[in-house]
Amino acid sequence: MSATLTLSDAAEPEKRKLFPIRNRTGTAAFHLSTDAVGFGQSDLEKLTEKQAVLFMAEAQWGSAQEMPCVHCGSIDTHYWTPKEMRWKCKCCGKRFSVTSNTVFADHKLPLSKILKIAFSWANGAAGVPALKLRRDWNVAYATVFTLAHKLREGLTRGFDKGPLAGVHEMDGMDVNGRRYKEKRNKPLGSRSAGAPKIPAELLKPADGSELMGPAKPPKFGKTAKQPADRRLLLVMCQRGVSEGKGTSATRVAIGLSESTKTVTAMATQHASAESTIMSDEDPSYASFRDLFADHRTINHSVAYSDGKGTSNNQAESFNARMRRTAEGTYLSISNKYLKDYACEVAWRTDTRKMSTRNKLRHVIRNALSVGMSLWWRGYTHGHHREEELLIEGAQLALGRGRQPGWKAKVPR
Ligand SMILES: [Zn+2]
Repeated sequence: MSATLTLSDAAEPEKRKLFPIRNRTGTAAFHLSTDAVGFGQSDLEKLTEKQAVLFMAEAQWGSAQEMPCVHCGSIDTHYWTPKEMRWKCKCCGKRFSVTSNTVFADHKLPLSKILKIAFSWANGAAGVPALKLRRDWNVAYATVFTLAHKLREGLTRGFDKGPLAGVHEMDGMDVNGRRYKEKRNKPLGSRSAGAPKIPAELLKPADGSELMGPAKPPKFGKTAKQPADRRLLLVMCQRGVSEGKGTSATRVAIGLSESTKTVTAMATQHASAESTIMSDEDPSYASFRDLFADHRTINHSVAYSDGKGTSNNQAESFNARMRRTAEGTYLSISNKYLKDYACEVAWRTDTRKMSTRNKLRHVIRNALSVGMSLWWRGYTHGHHREEELLIEGAQLALGRGRQPGWKAKVPR
């Protein structure tokens, strides 16, 4: 039976043309290999608190013997005090622990438990909801919620940084923005019935024809039509050196719209001038030809790839994974924390071929590398971040939830 399903070049060239076989990236084979595992929840179960401290020290400093003092910065084999599980500096004499001056400073949970929860979190391919972590580990919701967000803070401030070099694919995707109000109680397909007629000279020109007439007034523009809480997720995927193996590095940004200003800000922040950028034919990318070594576009109404290497399919795949995470796992990501979740998806993409142990090490290393938490310290005491992180600059986020003074209606 399987023989008839196999498409060979010689036997059925026509069929192959209609159903091209996708190049395999080897990710599925990796996930089933022994390299992908070798470290599991049962290994973490055996971990003593001292071993957890040493694991974190190794993740943070690359060594559990030699490390920089948190207070004076001197690198040495500082005195280990087993009872306190801290070090005493050989230079300034002050004491420090593995979590001093990190997002986990003043942690209430034992470090071994933090590692176990972080391990669960790191292993979910499409994200892990805080409620599931709460059920699995029997800790307060606020505790796991802030813990997961501290991991995301490490990724946002420590991982999603720096320029890429080589060939990058870039794309934008609409996220959030509620349409239910305008769609409610209206039959499907009726939206255009009452819409004002657009004069012919203002319509998009047909393929091959010259652009005629005055510029489009803003009310017909993409930006003017979109809901106020709609955001644009911009992604840049650096192609791996070995062809056909997928993305090697990912950067994300959130913008208010897919404008020349936002896409240029994103690209100049994360791409070197020698880069080649591949995108779709959106006019906002038009200036890239002057900014980078090369800019190639793919017309999606014709093909997804031109057969000569031009495509932005890796960026489109990222968008699909982001949508799966946003709509399938976290369900209602606020604009305020959209960037944090996007960084999480970028990290999951880039670490997809790491072993479970290295993945845990990587996420802990990022969390320990950014200093004290700026956004989640004192969260349960009402200290919340106020801004959403946009490529245009941080802007004050609208609050969600109940208004001040809200009272429950008591049924009589
Ligand atoms: Zn010191």
